[in-house]
Amino acid sequence: MLEPLKNIGIPSDILTTVLDNVGACVYVKDRSGRYIYANRQVQELFGHSLEDIIGKSDEAFFDLERSAQLKENDDWVISKGKVLESEEANYLKSTGERHIYLTVKQPLYDDNQQIIGMFGISTDITAEKKLARELKQQNEMLNILMDNIDSSIYMLTEDNHLIYGNRSLAEQFQRTQAELRNMNISELVDEQTFKALAEHNRKVFESGETQKFKEEVRTADGERRFYWSVKVPYTLADEQRVIVGLSTDMTETFLLQERLREQSNRDPMTGLYNRRFFFDFAEKTMAESERSGRATSTLVIDVDDFKNINDNYGHPAGDRVLKDFSALLERLVRKGDIVARVGGEEFAVLLPNTGYQQAVDVARRICEQTRITPIKLANDQVVNVTVSIGVADNPASKGLYETIYGKADARLYLAKNNGRDQICAQD
Ligand code: GH3
Ligand code: MG
Ligand code: MG
Repeated sequence: MLEPLKNIGIPSDILTTVLDNVGACVYVKDRSGRYIYANRQVQELFGHSLEDIIGKSDEAFFDLERSAQLKENDDWVISKGKVLESEEANYLKSTGERHIYLTVKQPLYDDNQQIIGMFGISTDITAEKKLARELKQQNEMLNILMDNIDSSIYMLTEDNHLIYGNRSLAEQFQRTQAELRNMNISELVDEQTFKALAEHNRKVFESGETQKFKEEVRTADGERRFYWSVKVPYTLADEQRVIVGLSTDMTETFLLQERLREQSNRDPMTGLYNRRFFFDFAEKTMAESERSGRATSTLVIDVDDFKNINDNYGHPAGDRVLKDFSALLERLVRKGDIVARVGGEEFAVLLPNTGYQQAVDVARRICEQTRITPIKLANDQVVNVTVSIGVADNPASKGLYETIYGKADARLYLAKNNGRDQICAQD
């Protein structure tokens, strides 16, 4: 057996201190695998003193059946006379604990170049391996999520370049994920969409806070989609400021909402706007036209002797008249005008950007066209109806829309009193 640490030109107590503090297991074994030296880390691992370890081989300390590699590596180094560097998984006999080492083993020669044993350094990398495995698992899980989630997930720079886009985003723009990388958002959507998205992104960077937006996206081929987007500001390790975004396609839901909202503004029978919408819209328009100084006019229209139509032809015929008259009314006004059914056989028209004289002209046209347009009922019956119309413009009475409407309504009743089938535009 060799003398421990013989013939090394450093005082052995210094060397022992160094070896005890290298942070790895250091050991020397003879050709038969018996320990000649083991540093403190080995002693701690085995739970034995150096005296106990010396002269014993690994079977005293390791479960060699499960740590077969250990013996194989030692034998290989001694028989081949070569250096070995590898990972070794060893099981302690005392506890069954498994440790993974990064191990370097070298043959040990005597003065005659005969291999007399081997020495090794084994660094415990169990924790690192565990961490690496956990990281890998997390990464795999993240990738699975990213690729299978229906929402688009992306990372954006301050100048709207994509650093990352998941599969859903790639599919949305019919690109590959690799193609998306480094593309600017402006290359993917139309100009108007880009402006809106860039404005949202700017707000996120500026506030440094997570923000949520409803975003409308028109793709290059003109398709219109709506997204609910959550945008999180984040600073990368290299100090680059980015947005991590998650956008969920809500097109169907938003369109349904839009349709429901639209429906709630309409009169189901005629399809015209209803009374509530008319007054809401008129209030807003009036406030606006007071600011801009532009005129807005109102017509209040009532079908003459409508009760007679119901009485003579029946209620369904009355409905037919109301529907046909509604269609005629819509044809006779401009696109931006608001036509509403405000009561049973009572209608109102809001004429934005329309002064008094123009409004009078429109009212006259409606009155005349109604008179000369026969309405076809079932059974080839035809009926002619007339209407009376009250006209008011906003300078007539500034302020509450109700007052203006009341003015037009009062004039409507003047028209009725004057014999119906006519307009009244002044008191
Ligand atoms: P005036 O020229 O003074 O306006 O006479 P009028 O008969 O038109 O007025 P009146 O207010 O006496 O009658 C309106 C009628 O409209 C009474 C009501 O039964 C009828 N009416 C209200 N809504 C509907 C509807 O949705 N369908 C039908 N068919 N009739 C309706
Ligand atoms: Mg009437
Ligand atoms: Mg009426």
